[in-house]
Amino acid sequence: MTRPMLKTALPRTWREREVLQFGAVAERAVLLDGVRPAVSAFLDLVDGSRETEQLLAEGERLGVGSGPARELLGSLARAGLLDDAGAQQALGPLPAPYRRRLAPDLASLSLVHPEPGAAPALLAARGSAAVQVRGAGRVGAAVAALLAAAGVGVVEVVDRGRVAAGDCTPAGVPPQDVGRLRTTAAREALRRAGAGTAPAARAGTPQLVVVAPRDGTAGLAADPAQGRQLMRAGVPHLYTCVVEHLGLVGPLVLPGAAACGGCATLHRGDRDPAWVRLVAQLCSDGAARARTPACDTALAGAVAGLAALHVLMLLDGGRPPSVDGVMELSAADGMVRRLRMPLHPDCGCAWYGG
Ligand SMILES: [Zn+2]
Repeated sequence: MTRPMLKTALPRTWREREVLQFGAVAERAVLLDGVRPAVSAFLDLVDGSRETEQLLAEGERLGVGSGPARELLGSLARAGLLDDAGAQQALGPLPAPYRRRLAPDLASLSLVHPEPGAAPALLAARGSAAVQVRGAGRVGAAVAALLAAAGVGVVEVVDRGRVAAGDCTPAGVPPQDVGRLRTTAAREALRRAGAGTAPAARAGTPQLVVVAPRDGTAGLAADPAQGRQLMRAGVPHLYTCVVEHLGLVGPLVLPGAAACGGCATLHRGDRDPAWVRLVAQLCSDGAARARTPACDTALAGAVAGLAALHVLMLLDGGRPPSVDGVMELSAADGMVRRLRMPLHPDCGCAWYGG
């Protein structure tokens, strides 16, 4: 670590005399005991403006002692309270407005990934990531805009046709774009959300595809041909949609290493023996589909937010709960549930090497 800095995302409060609490959320808060006035003055200097050796000299000057000051820095780092201001160099090539806009995201990353210096490296990596979103409806356009706003370098939206009034939401394509090409309207929504400001990004094969069909029924019954193509290419992909009163996020498919869209169809077939016959009709027979597909605006926004969060978790090296599962959000009761959806023994998708 070059320049230690107490995490700026954590508020500091005195719990008792000489007991300092870092963080307001009780379950995650960290307590530091024995914070005498000299130690408190020392902590005020741990702000990223000094090298470690300079800080130790300050500890000596304040009467803390350089040995105890070194131990204190060590325990602060182990408790996840320290950042490395020097690591922010990873963001050096990014323009200042981009960095200012993403400062709260960086602060959040510093809490989720507590090792000193991890957050700037992850934010820089997002800037060079490429994600493709298939579908520019209420869910798809909003997922894409959120990913661009969160610093993903390249977000591409793929769809056909022109914007219909029912496609519009404040998080995605606005009502004044009705009648324009969906891809053009989505591209402009991305630009408004901050896309194209990360210079490191290069267009190319996406690292991840979000499958967000406008017609939610298509999301419930994953298109096998599309699934096979993504599995063969080894591209992780997340299914998400709103169907009737339910929002679905998942499965997030890691080819060969987690359940795929075909597994989800087989699991649904296990619960409902007629499912395969119903899916065939829903996929092939337009007359079988709802004439006015339901899609609650707020539900679509919540689904888009959750889907974007899971995509970012994966890009940042985590394993979101939509891997081997489906998150189900209900407009009827406002609850979020996770349905377990492991690899299905009859699917055979584990043969696609991950
Ligand atoms: Zn499968």
